[in-house]
Amino acid sequence: MNEKIPGLYIHIPFCLSKCPYCDFYSITSISAVSDFLDALFKEMEMYCNRFNPFDTVYIGGGTPSLLSSKQLENILTKVRENFDLLPDSEITIEANPADLNRSFLDSMHEIGINRINIGVQSFGEKVLGFLGRRHSIKQAISAIEASKKAGFHNIGLDLIYGVPGQGIGVWLNTLKQAVAFSPEHISCYQLTLEAKTPLGIRCQAGEFSIPGDKLQYEFFMKTSGFLEDAGYIHYEVSNFARGHEYASRHNQKYWDHSSFLGLGPSAHSFQSNQRWWNHRSLDEYLTSINAGNLPVQETETLTIEQLRLEALYLSLRTKKGVYLEDFKNQYAYDLFTEKKELLAKLEEEGFISIRDGFLYPTQRGFAVADSLSLI
Ligand code: SF4
Repeated sequence: MNEKIPGLYIHIPFCLSKCPYCDFYSITSISAVSDFLDALFKEMEMYCNRFNPFDTVYIGGGTPSLLSSKQLENILTKVRENFDLLPDSEITIEANPADLNRSFLDSMHEIGINRINIGVQSFGEKVLGFLGRRHSIKQAISAIEASKKAGFHNIGLDLIYGVPGQGIGVWLNTLKQAVAFSPEHISCYQLTLEAKTPLGIRCQAGEFSIPGDKLQYEFFMKTSGFLEDAGYIHYEVSNFARGHEYASRHNQKYWDHSSFLGLGPSAHSFQSNQRWWNHRSLDEYLTSINAGNLPVQETETLTIEQLRLEALYLSLRTKKGVYLEDFKNQYAYDLFTEKKELLAKLEEEGFISIRDGFLYPTQRGFAVADSLSLI
């Protein structure tokens, strides 16, 4: 049983245009926003006795910054009506730079949103064009500056690397420009192309290729080195914080197997040994809720072994790694004894380190975190 405080995720399934690399669920018509919000409030009521309290709310999507500040305020009011939201909760919104003007930012700040994640993606014109983003570099710069002026003290910039045609020099230039704003948080995601996305289809047709393992490794190490030199803590494979207090508290819940409730189409939830996810279709979501049913598409019950492997996989994506004694107590598995030889080999090869009862990835291990989970 997990006794950590749960987090709340709200998926806003609307975008004005679809970026050709994106596999998140969203639709480009905003005509159903008010139907969606009515359904979202009903969904909250359906869960009000099952999750309490929360100390993080993450409004993601899709593009939550397409909503008006009044609509966002209504969402937070309904969250507070239905759930116990602790006083110092982290409340994050994902935002497209094109939507951020000073008065909207002021309003968001006033209604209690205290963390903003701006989808900058790149400070390079060509890369932005390739990614099909609807914002410009100029808009990204003014969004960051306006966020500061509006009083946000926890600003995150999302960036993408490994874009075809983007050399390491171009990427480092984006990092340099990002760091110049001293954001509290920077996420650097490697471009991955799902087969059914427009860019995935073009890539499969041979129109371009994405960097291979060796080049990706170089991107990763250069990114980590550059941002650490600039004073950022590389606390998770893709995430950097300008001080531990700025590490995402909400995302930490995914990595340490805390419970979380996901509301809205396609949102995932996790509690004890159960994971479930909502319909990846606004129509199906609305139909279920309006018929008085939870909009759940499927539920999965995880065995202790699945939970253990997941916990290991997720912890090895974080700098703090796994506390072996806790792991043994929680999953009835003594990793250190059971995998002694494999751990010794990985430590000798420089992928992991075992110290003071912790098993954690080295920088080299971080770069190949996905395959380290096999231990
Ligand atoms: S704005 Fe974000 S969620 Fe919407 S299509 Fe682009 S990447 Fe996907």
